[in-house]
Amino acid sequence: MKKHNFSAGPCILPQEVFKQASEAVIDFNGLGLSLIEISHRDKNFIEVMDQAQSLALELLGLENKGYKALFLQGGASTQFLAVAYNLLNKKSAYLNTGTWASKAIKEARLFGELVEVASSKDQNFNYIPKGFSVPSDVDYLHITTNNTIFGTQIKEDYNFEVPLVADMSSDIFSCQRDFSKYDLIYAGAQKNMGPAGTTLVVIKEGILGKVDRTIPSMLDYKIHIDKESMFNTPPVFAVYVSMLTLQWLKNLGGIQAIEKINQEKADLLYDEIDRNPLFKGFAATEDRSNMNATFNLVDESVKDLFDGIWKDADINGLNGHRSVGGYRASMYNALPLNSVEVLVQAMQAIEKRA
Ligand SMILES: *Cc1c(COP(=O)(O)O)cnc(C)c1O
Repeated sequence: MKKHNFSAGPCILPQEVFKQASEAVIDFNGLGLSLIEISHRDKNFIEVMDQAQSLALELLGLENKGYKALFLQGGASTQFLAVAYNLLNKKSAYLNTGTWASKAIKEARLFGELVEVASSKDQNFNYIPKGFSVPSDVDYLHITTNNTIFGTQIKEDYNFEVPLVADMSSDIFSCQRDFSKYDLIYAGAQKNMGPAGTTLVVIKEGILGKVDRTIPSMLDYKIHIDKESMFNTPPVFAVYVSMLTLQWLKNLGGIQAIEKINQEKADLLYDEIDRNPLFKGFAATEDRSNMNATFNLVDESVKDLFDGIWKDADINGLNGHRSVGGYRASMYNALPLNSVEVLVQAMQAIEKRA
């Protein structure tokens, strides 16, 4: 029986995608061969890569707008340095909203001057800084739209006069944004799109070619664009499953449709956190993430009782990250509304028993 999976990443994907992917591992397109034993230069796989790239651009509304989509390896963590390698010539600006943003900052400092335009570290990253300004002479501003660990989310699309780079690992394809305001978007697949092993990078081509340094081939976006994500062997399985998930999303009605469902799930859970006297939310109310809800018990002495109740309800992956404690419910695109209903019932069950 399928569990209610609130895991933060790797995470739940649509059940039908798991089924299609498992079939392709045995026999792909009726070829009598597995997806993972054919050449990545075989036309059957090239079609997968083309599809995955065009679906990504289509769902983001970025077709024919000068953008390219790449599926690279090395996780979002490699993008922390690839972004700086390709774009940071003299000076960059970073918004520090959590662990992942801090890690991106650490890497970029290796390449040039860095201005931290604002930080919410003073309150353990439980809010998104507001009203900050960005120097006009920076090469780009880097933000993390959704802070997976702390459960905060940037809900607006910033309008600064400098190129905008965003780590969207944990909320890409979950809510509508004006993606054309972003010059570079990257996202590890394993939070909302596919298995670990590939990272989607969406780049406005015009921002490249402006740094003085020589870039190693594997980190050079221009090379990956010229080779259409086939400079070296791509992670074929991860790209294939990502393609299936993007197709699933398109069939559902795209980002507009999934955003409504995600809002419904988030409202259901946050309403219970606010109503139930046994729980308190971690993130500032206006900055709460619709993907990762962080919350704690008011009285830790009932922890074992609550943990027993949700585990008995076939819920998986609810423990919070060690830097926040408590609980984190990740409600990615593929998580059914019913799973959130089951969690809310568990929260109401402990209220009756505690
Ligand atoms: C998980 C995560 C990362 C790290 O991704 P890897 O693929 O493990 O390198 C980076 N940024 C955000 C926002 C994340 O949620």
